[in-house]
Amino acid sequence: MRKFLLGSATPSVESYYHAQQDKYGYTKLTDRFGEAVLPEILFADMRQERKRKLNKGEFSSLLYQELQKSLSNNEQAIIFQNRRGYSPIIQCEDCSWVPKCMNCSVSLTYHQYRNAIVCHYCGYHEAMPKTCPDCTSKRIKTMGVGTQKLEEELNLLFPDFSVQRMDWDTTRVKSGYENIIDDFETGKTDLLVGTQMVTKGLDFDRVSLVGILMRTA
Ligand SMILES: [Zn+2]
Ligand SMILES: [Zn+2]
Repeated sequence: MRKFLLGSATPSVESYYHAQQDKYGYTKLTDRFGEAVLPEILFADMRQERKRKLNKGEFSSLLYQELQKSLSNNEQAIIFQNRRGYSPIIQCEDCSWVPKCMNCSVSLTYHQYRNAIVCHYCGYHEAMPKTCPDCTSKRIKTMGVGTQKLEEELNLLFPDFSVQRMDWDTTRVKSGYENIIDDFETGKTDLLVGTQMVTKGLDFDRVSLVGILMRTA
């Protein structure tokens, strides 16, 4: 009789169900491998940052400083933003209102060329509001940009370092995924920005910092 060992931080619903039904044996890892310590987690309030103009584009002053520190120590960093492409969402700067699709309740995406806010799932769209429907503020700003925009910003903020992007657009070409991982592993790349792909079980010795950007989907 053969035995199989399945291991995952994010098991499929089917596997998890089988384990719960005692069809599979179940072993839970309660300690991190090699007694690794959990990372220190710091938060930044982007509303305050923007109000006081401390932010560096889409990055908080804290994240910017930590990125500088890591890079100057010859370490690497990963930036996670769960939105690909360029397209920003919009948000009221005063009350944080975000327009949602009435059909799908996901955030609507701003399309500059038609001055409209659009649902990427069902195609619903409406004109870009001039005032906030919740608090009547006129300070409605575009924010929460995609990985492509972040890559561009990182290149401007850290021109001496190399940035690579890992998302659906850059990995659908042949060997795209492998090449990006290889470059990061061998230190050819200093900064890796990407969607949830960068969060799935990657392990790099020289990564000392992970930035997670606001997610309002
Ligand atoms: Zn929709
Ligand atoms: Zn508002």
